[in-house]
Amino acid sequence: MRRTYKVNEMAFFQKTNNTPPETDHPMIDLRGVNKYYKTAVGDYHALKDVDLQINAGEFVSIIGKSGSGKSTLLNMITGIDRPTDGEVFVNNTAVHGLNENKMARWRGLNLGVVFQFFQLLPTISVIENIMLPMDFCRTYPMREREKRAMQLLELVDLADHAYKLPTALSGGQQQRVAIARALANDPPVIIADEPTGNLDSKTAEDVFTLFNDLVAQGKTIIIVTHDSALAKRTHRTALITDGEIVNEYVAQAMPTLTQEQLLWATRNAKAQTYEAGAMIFAEGTNADAFYIVSKGTVEIVLPRPNQSDVVALQLGPGKFFGEMAFFHAHKRSASVRASESNAVEVLRLGYDQLSELLNQSEVTRDALHQMADKHEEENLKKREAIGALFSDIKKENPQ
Ligand code: ADP
Ligand code: MG
Repeated sequence: MRRTYKVNEMAFFQKTNNTPPETDHPMIDLRGVNKYYKTAVGDYHALKDVDLQINAGEFVSIIGKSGSGKSTLLNMITGIDRPTDGEVFVNNTAVHGLNENKMARWRGLNLGVVFQFFQLLPTISVIENIMLPMDFCRTYPMREREKRAMQLLELVDLADHAYKLPTALSGGQQQRVAIARALANDPPVIIADEPTGNLDSKTAEDVFTLFNDLVAQGKTIIIVTHDSALAKRTHRTALITDGEIVNEYVAQAMPTLTQEQLLWATRNAKAQTYEAGAMIFAEGTNADAFYIVSKGTVEIVLPRPNQSDVVALQLGPGKFFGEMAFFHAHKRSASVRASESNAVEVLRLGYDQLSELLNQSEVTRDALHQMADKHEEENLKKREAIGALFSDIKKENPQ
């Protein structure tokens, strides 16, 4: 049976709305982060120019092969390690600039960290483990700490085990204690490095459910996971390959590419921005590029002579356009513009590059080709419908 946690009843969490607050700054913001490790055979480039923005209230998974740099990336955010260059902001604090003295206290207040192997102190009881962060940061009056720790244990359904040593608990129970400890100071952000990596699938599901409930309460959560099925159930997934982040919209648009191909596409795609309402390309012009939407919404527009345009389709982040002309006419069969309500960012891949990419991946070529056929058919139908409407109007209002 699936465990239900009582997160929604907990009065001691800060009140937060379910919709993430609109803020100017992302909750987590990595800019141009590079990390080199010194090794016997020279510097090892573990993170390569990583940019990653995560908004308050988002649930983000990070996936990638073993050794790809996932833990290194998390360590930049928690301040457990420092970037060689670049900037890391968490909750408006420049983490890369904090000294060792300030770091531990800052982390204790702002981040809950959960590890694969739980890392509970073995010689003190479960409830004392949860009180430790409160003691360290002096966040709650001394006499309230035990009560709060007990409430957190109730939250993870382990109140009966409060006075046992951690080693008396199963792996799944220990991980839930670790999550309760991560929540001790009610931090806005939870960072978890393979939190289900050491658990069976049923227990992993319980832990994931708990994270989901916390996101619903307004927490920002990042988990590293090997489990792609779990990753799919988060709001966003960042894929890291050899220290580089694959653009998530490229991955959404062409999910059948291999990691190496995705990375190649990420490196070759050029980000272009357009103001609200601006034309990206016009019907009838020569076509030379394929586009993936990365911010905002674009409109596919079917122009009508002497009439206002008809918006056939709106496409948001992860959706693509410009594939029709690649497979069909080599002239644009519709216009595309940034929607009136928002500026847009698109990732542009020239047809030469798209061709090179699709030569490596027949399955992606087939998927895009099918999409091109489908869009063409839809556009024809829309045009016919518009045409019929137009002639009806003419009949009703003969000149
Ligand atoms: P992941 O968590 O994705 O498995 P890591 O971030 O732990 O990968 O490691 C990324 C790469 O950096 C690996 O090749 C690893 O061997 C190397 N690495 C990690 N920590 C160190 C270190 N302290 N010194 C040298 N190399 C390291
Ligand atoms: Mg790791």
